[in-house]
Amino acid sequence: MRRPGTDENNVQMSDVLCDFCRQEWTDARFMVEGHQGSCICSDCLTHAYRAVARKSEPAVTEPGKCILCLETRPAPLWASPGFPDVLACQRCIKQSAAVLQKDPDFGWRKPER
Ligand SMILES: [Zn+2]
Ligand SMILES: [Zn+2]
Repeated sequence: MRRPGTDENNVQMSDVLCDFCRQEWTDARFMVEGHQGSCICSDCLTHAYRAVARKSEPAVTEPGKCILCLETRPAPLWASPGFPDVLACQRCIKQSAAVLQKDPDFGWRKPER
């Protein structure tokens, strides 16, 4: 998401916020973009991946609307701990993890557990 009041013609890193934790984009917190400016950060993606792919953290067990692809998707989804109505679907989480893992500058790895 964009920080409210962001100049769309001059978007700064600090204007880009993770939809799930509302923290800003920094060199230490990478963002993967979804539709309509929605974003998930690397920290949230670690938890989301553990929830839906490794099943080592709680996941949502009912269908819901993913904020990244804007589609209603079957369970499991991951809910933001701070904003429980903000959901990410398994498909977007896996795609985002693949994108992030490919970035050699960032060095993020899919969590093993
Ligand atoms: Zn986040
Ligand atoms: Zn999705």
